[in-house]
Amino acid sequence: MKIDDIKHVAVIGAGKMGHGIAEVALISGYAVSLYDIKEEFAEKGKSLIDWSLLKFVEKSVISEKDYQKFISNLTLTTDLKKAVKNADLCIEAAPEILNLKKKIFSDLDKFSPKHAILASNTSTISITEIGASTQRPEKVIGMHFPPPPVLAKMIEIVKGDNTSDETINIVVDFTHKSSKVPIISKDSPGFIFNRIVAPSFLLMQLMLDRNEYSPAKVDAAALNMGMIMGPYELQDFIGHDILYHSTKYFEENLSKDYAPTPTLEKMVKENKLGKKTGEGIYKWPEGRRPKIDLSDSTEFDLMDMMRVQINEAAKVLEEDISNAKDINIGMKLHYNYPWGPFELAEKTDLPDLTKFLDELAEKYGKEVFRAHKWIRDGTLIERVKK
Ligand code: NAD
Repeated sequence: MKIDDIKHVAVIGAGKMGHGIAEVALISGYAVSLYDIKEEFAEKGKSLIDWSLLKFVEKSVISEKDYQKFISNLTLTTDLKKAVKNADLCIEAAPEILNLKKKIFSDLDKFSPKHAILASNTSTISITEIGASTQRPEKVIGMHFPPPPVLAKMIEIVKGDNTSDETINIVVDFTHKSSKVPIISKDSPGFIFNRIVAPSFLLMQLMLDRNEYSPAKVDAAALNMGMIMGPYELQDFIGHDILYHSTKYFEENLSKDYAPTPTLEKMVKENKLGKKTGEGIYKWPEGRRPKIDLSDSTEFDLMDMMRVQINEAAKVLEEDISNAKDINIGMKLHYNYPWGPFELAEKTDLPDLTKFLDELAEKYGKEVFRAHKWIRDGTLIERVKK
């Protein structure tokens, strides 16, 4: 099978990511069926696609004729069999729950043509494990889009233990066709990008739990530094349910240190999931971004987030999840960072970094922050350059 054999894409789940992935496939010229469990969810996804495409018309990125063509290529359905019966590529974007994904993939395997590639947009869950719920693990792959998919510059392509080279090549071509950069990752909890930021999210959640800094002040500092969104607003934007499931997955598969904090547990229990429910760390009236007073920033040094990310990037490199070049490029494209973690490491005094990380590990009682051996022995940069 080749990229030209992909004509019809089915997207499973029309939520925050699914509707955006469907839009990417429409813009790339594919016929798309968008499935969700309730008609109102699928309709909501379509209205968001419509809104976004019309913005592109307004900005002359696409023509009115393109808009009509893309919309006419979109079909909504709540019937999974119908959604995938002609699909050459299925992309799942349902909630981040392993058993749910396994059930969906087993159904996709039953209902889609034998040649179809089955991809998951999971941010953390094992592609190998998802693939094991099908009779075609060689055609199961991760396609992890950063949010929002339509503006994403890259796609993290996750190779399960049984994913074939043919499947990888087709998904790499699909990524190029969508005008995005493919970054290939080995199957491992959180892959490259969620794994590297996981300890910095943990740090933010621990700080929130202990009321150490005001979220608005931390976010003001981030905006003043030129970030598009501060780390707390970002958590509201991603959704605390998604973060909760990811941290639980990390707790079970990476380190007990990731156990959700009481504050995160409470927000999920109270359905304060962030933007999607109108309240999280901030209030989101009618989905509008929180107003943050830029003159009121905090004493917190945002580079601390980067310091823990350098440490985790060293682990990702040691575990051979990806290479240093792709980790640097991918982190810049995925998070709009001005530098990759190893580029930053080159400008960092490693003995100072070791001291900082060890102190952080002691302060919060979390070994996940402890300095990696290559930072401690000062060999990180020479290993990156190998
Ligand atoms: P979401 O809650 O916005 O959307 C999930 C959608 O799936 C909902 O519309 C829901 O009705 C639907 N759904 C529920 N059960 C389903 C089922 N059995 N079959 C099909 N659809 C079902 O979640 P999201 O943020 O779009 O996340 C979806 C996936 O994308 C997750 O795996 C998540 O980890 C991943 N992801 C999320 C982000 C992010 O920023 N939120 C970024 C990258 C990847």
